Amino acid sequence: MAKNYVDSVNLASCPFCGHEARMEKTKAYCLDAFRASCTHCHINTGIITAGGTVKHGEWIIVTLEDALQEALGKWNTRINSDRNVVHPHNNLQRVRGFLNG
Ligand SMILES: [Zn+2]
Repeated sequence: MAKNYVDSVNLASCPFCGHEARMEKTKAYCLDAFRASCTHCHINTGIITAGGTVKHGEWIIVTLEDALQEALGKWNTRINSDRNVVHPHNNLQRVRGFLNG
């Protein structure tokens, strides 16, 4: 089956290798689905299906648009600020501070 790419979305370059990414429209479990992936290292968001699904214990319907937005959001989300990055060393200091405090 020929791959079907969505060219109209803006994807950030790959966070790992810096190459171009593509949004693929595909199928999973007979449902329409999307997956963003790197053209070079093939890291990807995993498949995000449209249709009926259970989320937080509730049965919900995910539209095609919602599924595309979710895949887009997953791929384009970046941790830009040092503040949000948990360095193992800082984490250890926090744990020690907690235990000693
Ligand atoms: Zn890559």
